Amino acid sequence: MTVTSARRVDPIAADAVGNSATEAFVQAFGYRPTGVWSAPGRANLIGEHIDYAGGTVLPFALPYVTAAAVSVRADGVVRCVSTHEEQGWEGPVDQVAPGHPTGWASYVAGVLWVLATRGLLSAGVGFDIAIASSVPIGSGLSSSAALECSVALAVAELTGLPTTEPEDRLQLVTAAIRAENEIAGASTGGMDQSVSMLARSGSALLLDCRTFAHSHIPLDPARSGAALMLIDSNTPHQLVGSAYTDRRADIDTAAERLGVASLRSVRDVDAALARLAADGGERLARRARHVLSEMRRVELAVEAMQTDNLRLVGELLSASHASLRDDYEVSTSALDAIVAAALDGGAWGARMIGGGFGGCALVLCAADREEIIAAAVAQTLAAAEHPTPSVYVASPGPPARRLQ
Ligand code: ADP
Ligand code: MG
Repeated sequence: MTVTSARRVDPIAADAVGNSATEAFVQAFGYRPTGVWSAPGRANLIGEHIDYAGGTVLPFALPYVTAAAVSVRADGVVRCVSTHEEQGWEGPVDQVAPGHPTGWASYVAGVLWVLATRGLLSAGVGFDIAIASSVPIGSGLSSSAALECSVALAVAELTGLPTTEPEDRLQLVTAAIRAENEIAGASTGGMDQSVSMLARSGSALLLDCRTFAHSHIPLDPARSGAALMLIDSNTPHQLVGSAYTDRRADIDTAAERLGVASLRSVRDVDAALARLAADGGERLARRARHVLSEMRRVELAVEAMQTDNLRLVGELLSASHASLRDDYEVSTSALDAIVAAALDGGAWGARMIGGGFGGCALVLCAADREEIIAAAVAQTLAAAEHPTPSVYVASPGPPARRLQ
C-alpha cells in the first residue's frame, strides 16, 4: 500500500510576507515603499449560507495574510504588481470604472475607485502598490478580501483617513465590499471584508449580516489543548454560480411564502417548516430548515465558547455539516469524505466551509490528534481517488494592520 500524506502548508510569518511585498515593490518600481500593510484571509467557524437570510455568522481571521507595499504618487496614476501575477496594471485612478480594469487588478483599483467616488481621495493622488500573499487563492479562504483590505488600509493610512476605531474600519469594509461587487464583478455579502478588518487574535467575530453589528467571542483552541485545521479538498469548485443563485432564490421564496422579510424573522421554526412543507414545498422546507437550524447552532456555539466547551462546538460543526450536506445539498463526496475520516480519526467535529461544491473543511480536534487525523484523511481521499488534500493552520489571528 502506498502511504499518502496531506500537503501541510504552514503559515509564513506576516513580516516575511511583508518583506516579499517590499522586494517586489523595489524590483518593479526601483525605490523603497513608504510602508507595508497586511490583511488576513478567513474561515467561518459556523453560520454557513445564512448571511443572505439576515443571519449572524462567526468567522475568524487566519494566520495567512496578503501584504501590500505602497507609496503615494502625485500624478493620479496607480501602478500595481503582484508576486502571483505576471501582468501588472497601470492607469489613471479617475478612469477606473465597472469593467476597467478587469482581472486581479480590479480588486485593487476598485478600492481606490470607491474611496475616490466618496470624495475621500484628493484629486491627483496616485499609488505604487506591490502585493505578496500567503493566502491560498481561490480555495474559499478569501484571498480576495485580504487583497482589498490590505490595499484599503494602506491607502487610508497614507492619505490620513482615520483607521483606529471600528467605525473607521467599517468605512473601509464597505469600500472593499463595493470594490468586489461593482468593479471586480464578484458577488460578496461582506463577511470576509468585515472579519479581515475587524478580527481579534484569539477570537471569532460574531457579525450580524443585516446591521454589521459585531462583538468578539473568545476562540483560542491552543489554550484548551485543541487545534483547528483546514483541509482543502483541492477539487475545483463546480456549478458554484448557478447553485448559489438557486439556493438564494429558494431562501427568498421561503421567506415570501412565510410573509417575513427574511428567515431571520421566523419565531416559530416548527410551524414555519410545517407550513412550507404543507404547501408542497418539500425542497423549500429542507432549505429553510438548514438556515433556521444553522442560525440556532451559531447561538449555541457562542454559549459553548463562552464556557470554553470546545467539544460541544465540535458537535455543532458536525451537525452543521450534516445540514449543509443533506438539507442544503452543497457538499461534495470529497468534503463528506474529509469530514467522515476526521471524525473517525477522533476529531471533536468537522464541517465543510464556504459556498460549497469544493474548497475546504474545518476540523476541530485535540492538538495531539492533528497529524493523525490529517494522515487518515489523506489515506481516505487517496483510496477514493480524490486529489491529495492540503492542510492549513486555522488559529484565529489578528486583523489588517501596518507591518512596516
Ligand atoms: P478566494 O477569495 O476564495 O480566494 P476569489 O475567487 O474570491 O477566491 O478571489 C480570488 C481572486 O482574487 C484571484 O483570482 C485574483 O484575481 C485575486 N487575488 C487574490 N489574491 C491575490 C494576489 N495575492 N495577487 C493577485 N491577485 C489576487
Ligand atoms: Mg473571495
